[in-house]
Amino acid sequence: RQEQYHKLRAVPAVTRDGVKIDLHMNAGLLVDLQHVAETGALSVGLFRTELQFMVAARFPRLSEQEDLYRTALDAVGDRALTFRTLDIGSDKVLPYMAQVQEENPALGWRAIRIGLDRPVLLRSQLRALLRAADGRPLRIMFPMIAMIEELDRAKTMVARELLHLARHNHPIPSKLELGVMVEVPSLLWQLDELCPKVDFLSVGSNDLVQYLFAADRDNKRVAGRFDCLSVPILRALKLIVDKAAAHGTSVTLCGEMGGRPLEAMALMGLGYRGLSMSAAAIGPVKAMTLALDLGKLEASVHSWLEADQGASASLRERLKRFAEE
Ligand code: PEP
Ligand code: MG
Repeated sequence: RQEQYHKLRAVPAVTRDGVKIDLHMNAGLLVDLQHVAETGALSVGLFRTELQFMVAARFPRLSEQEDLYRTALDAVGDRALTFRTLDIGSDKVLPYMAQVQEENPALGWRAIRIGLDRPVLLRSQLRALLRAADGRPLRIMFPMIAMIEELDRAKTMVARELLHLARHNHPIPSKLELGVMVEVPSLLWQLDELCPKVDFLSVGSNDLVQYLFAADRDNKRVAGRFDCLSVPILRALKLIVDKAAAHGTSVTLCGEMGGRPLEAMALMGLGYRGLSMSAAAIGPVKAMTLALDLGKLEASVHSWLEADQGASASLRERLKRFAEE
């Protein structure tokens, strides 16, 4: 199998009916980036910057962050790399940061919320990223945005840092693209205002599914209880891809479901044309893509998502049958 996937490395991911699908890779540590060429990924769609912070014994210094980001950009060469700003809190704890006792950490002080409340942290990370780009293109995305106002504040911080760099005669990125993770359900009803304000969207389905079902993604008792291929989730995911298309905003999905062939197939059926996944998932998802009649799948998925089509809550069995046929 591995060898078979390896052979597909240079083969573009195009469905049987000729639709190109962009497969990107998720990463968090520099070692992951060694695989980028091996996998044939178009780019690194999600670089989880908190990993550096989680394996450290103290807050990484600005220079250490900058070094890591520069090495990461060097490692991917001409490919794009999307840095996600610190997503700490909840399941991602920093042992050296004072623990905040919270009843519901997943609903608590995490990710961009910490970044905006502790601007020194986010500001220094943004500075490190902008410096590391060193005149090259740079993509940054913000996690856990729930209200557009949070994005506005984060963008203001970026603008300030850019100004700071320019004032100090440091090269600024040749192109700067800013995006948002769509992983808090409140964003689903702000997409018309959000899309014009970003260069791209990336759906964080791990969190989005947990919040839509109100089921902790790490709690075994409930995590397996709801299916991400159920109608309500697929409708939510369709809403995002449709709104993004209407605004001409690029959208990918970078949660774990994008790396599972059946789920990836469903996402393509909804209209997703870009998925970011773990290195090991790219081969199997590409093999599925090459075998897919997307036009036929889209028609089926759309009819299954209509009301009164007799769809059971989950489309998993129907999708499996489609895949087998
Ligand atoms: C997600 O929430 O889907 C995601 C990609 O981010 P993380 O798993 O790091 O929260
Ligand atoms: Mg997330």
